[in-house]
Amino acid sequence: MAAKKIIITIDGWSSCGKSTLAKQLAKKLNYVYIDSGAMYRAITLYFLRNHIDWTDEKEVNEALADIQLEFHYNEHSGQSEMYLNGENVEYVIRDLVVAEKVSDVAAIREVRAFAVKQQQAMGKKKGIVMDGRDIGTVVFPQAELKIFMTADNAIRVERRFKELYEKNPNITPEEVKNNLEMRDYIDSHREVSPLRQADDAIVLDNSNIGMEEQLKMALAWVQEKR
Ligand code: C5P
Repeated sequence: MAAKKIIITIDGWSSCGKSTLAKQLAKKLNYVYIDSGAMYRAITLYFLRNHIDWTDEKEVNEALADIQLEFHYNEHSGQSEMYLNGENVEYVIRDLVVAEKVSDVAAIREVRAFAVKQQQAMGKKKGIVMDGRDIGTVVFPQAELKIFMTADNAIRVERRFKELYEKNPNITPEEVKNNLEMRDYIDSHREVSPLRQADDAIVLDNSNIGMEEQLKMALAWVQEKR
């Protein structure tokens, strides 16, 4: 009998390797992978480009009505990429300019309702791995497997710095460290859907675990749940 399709949620602190594990799992299981953070980043990019005053509820609602978010699969990279109103923004949304504002934008109630509704629709058929901050607590509280990822701060800074430095050699480890700390603080202290571990989540600290070992552990958890 074919294994039943489940929903897998991966939440946790910034730059813990959530998307790496989520992509590996999706590939191995032939599931859809959704990077929910990319949606908040794309909304932030739209707000920045269009000078939206996000402290003004009416302006936010009007702006959201003009935003269309889609993921399209890129055959060359083998990854699904974020499109904002038909434009591929997968790379620009990773800029520090966006990262500096995304947690403020993601704390807005209307923005979250807009994103969560679309995320829930994507999980209707199951067979999905979604990573983010509130996926196991708010988006899919009924998910069969919930993973909460964490890692040492220094390791997280080093990983994210290496990633960003390839695109922008002017960036400093200090800037990266400050951004991660600021996002984690805002994400875990906001009023609406703060980052927190779901009661039924399995904690994965990958400070000293290699990618292969981490995947093996997660696949064993999948086996138990389906
Ligand atoms: O996952 P990533 O680091 O790209 O997410 C960028 C930001 O988007 C996070 O720092 C957080 O503010 C926000 N986010 C969120 N809820 C999610 C995913 C991301 O608030 N489910």
